[in-house]
Amino acid sequence: MEGVKYRLFRTALETLYFSGAHHLLRPLLGGVGAILTLHHVRPPRRDRFQPNRLLEVTPKYFERVIRRLRRSRAQLVSMDEVYRRMTERDFPGRFVSITFDDGYRDTLEFAYPILKKYEVPFTVYVATSFADRVGELWWLALEAVVAQNEMIGLRVEGRDRWFECRDVHEKRAVFDQIYRWLRELKTEDELRHMVRELATRHRVDMAAFCADLCMNWQELSALAADPLVTIGAHTVNHPILSKVSEKAVRAELDNSRSVIEAALGMRPQHLAYPVGDPSAAGPREFGIAADLGFKTAVTTRPGVVFRRHAKHLTALPRISLNGNFQRPRYAKVLLSGAATGMWNRFRRLSVA
Ligand SMILES: [Zn+2]
Repeated sequence: MEGVKYRLFRTALETLYFSGAHHLLRPLLGGVGAILTLHHVRPPRRDRFQPNRLLEVTPKYFERVIRRLRRSRAQLVSMDEVYRRMTERDFPGRFVSITFDDGYRDTLEFAYPILKKYEVPFTVYVATSFADRVGELWWLALEAVVAQNEMIGLRVEGRDRWFECRDVHEKRAVFDQIYRWLRELKTEDELRHMVRELATRHRVDMAAFCADLCMNWQELSALAADPLVTIGAHTVNHPILSKVSEKAVRAELDNSRSVIEAALGMRPQHLAYPVGDPSAAGPREFGIAADLGFKTAVTTRPGVVFRRHAKHLTALPRISLNGNFQRPRYAKVLLSGAATGMWNRFRRLSVA
């Protein structure tokens, strides 16, 4: 999240909490439930340069949120149950469904024991190339390149550009700038090409991130054996789907489902779009997911789930448990729907 937007969001959260306004807004904005997004759950690192920190929370914080949810009236349910409630229009209480993207090993190591302890069902959306050890976690490669170098060379539009990144402030600025460029490139091929070149030039082994951080098929199958666990699809190569052709989108969704079925013996019914914001997945992707028969597909558009999402089950919003907001009171406000309601300027559906 960019600086200004982030600060506004944070201020909005604080304001809502201290005013108690979220209690007033709850009946209006709480919807029928919420789907939570997590990436990493792991002990904190000390490094000051952690541009991807918003993608992780600590096990301690995660357990506090889960304990609080267990004590609340919210019903912790699987994505199959979300689908059932939405299609049967049966809402016996407000639901919360916990989801993890990408298939990191820390999901197994740190999050799973907590979810097991409180008997909470959850979904892991697996990018199959990560489990196959050939995926490119390019945002982490970029972080490593910037962290390990004081000067970075990058070819932009055919000419070499150099960036100084000696201290943490410069590193943050350079990371943000290059990240923004990458996201603005027209095609996924250009994005991958630029990152590969950057990684090669600065001797960062991109393939190593999969082996270091992601579950292999053996670990995934251990997890999948637990009835609490749903394995969902998250494409093969984790591309920004809006940057690839329609044919490629279909192949990414369909092939990931087949690979998971071959490896784990179960065909995923649920999908998460990589990156998942409006610039990464839109109506074209929502249509393809529905067409391919996925029961549900989740975005990272912030929001709680309303009855009206029953007609948009492949465009569901989620609420991110964000590493930059690790205080229990933030989670409380977020889950009330008040914060994301403000974020969406009180529009309930964001499906266009
Ligand atoms: Zn992902």
